Amino acid sequence: MTGSPKKHKTVGIDIRKDLFGANEDAAALNKKKFREHGLVVLDIMGSVGTGKTQLIEALCDRLRGRRQILMVAGDLATTIDADRVGSHEIDTVQINTGTACHLDARMIRVALDDVDLSKYDVVFIENVGNLICPAGYSLGADKKIVVVSVTEGPYMVRKHPLTIKRADMVVINKIDLADILEFDVDALVRDIREVDADLPVFRVSSKTGDGVDNLLKALGF
Ligand code: MG
Ligand code: ZN
Repeated sequence: MTGSPKKHKTVGIDIRKDLFGANEDAAALNKKKFREHGLVVLDIMGSVGTGKTQLIEALCDRLRGRRQILMVAGDLATTIDADRVGSHEIDTVQINTGTACHLDARMIRVALDDVDLSKYDVVFIENVGNLICPAGYSLGADKKIVVVSVTEGPYMVRKHPLTIKRADMVVINKIDLADILEFDVDALVRDIREVDADLPVFRVSSKTGDGVDNLLKALGF
């Protein structure tokens, strides 16, 4: 071998920065559009089975006649959640993400592109059931609400501190089952407080309606 090896340029690409930066830009555009229409937009996150859909149903029922609601459902493949909420006479938009385990701002923009947003006051976005990456993607919503439930075992919060950190409020759902499951709700609240001492936490049963009015009030409805 003679000579020195050819030198090519080296380009460092921070994929995370690039990806998240583009999403933040798209989210800002969404937010601007939501503002123009005077919408309250809530991004509801949580694992599969925490009762996100049931919570949205409970909120919709109580807002009936007072607010015009649009529900955007994120799901890999099905329309189960949108169908459920739609059965309450709520307009819905389904986003099937295929393989993507979260919604991002671009998906929201595309999904709402031909929707007349001036018809609505509130948009509930049900994110893909997964407690990890949805927290990392802004959609342009006013608030990120994380739903955990007493059926998920005691370590939900401790195992997902970043998600809690990025939340604007936490709903502990299915509290009607806490006694039966011998679930220590106070301990879960303490775990949340350890991540963020000031984060608003609501104890709710979407099924019995317990705590739903409190949550509505906190949301300004
Ligand atoms: Mg659901
Ligand atoms: Zn994901």
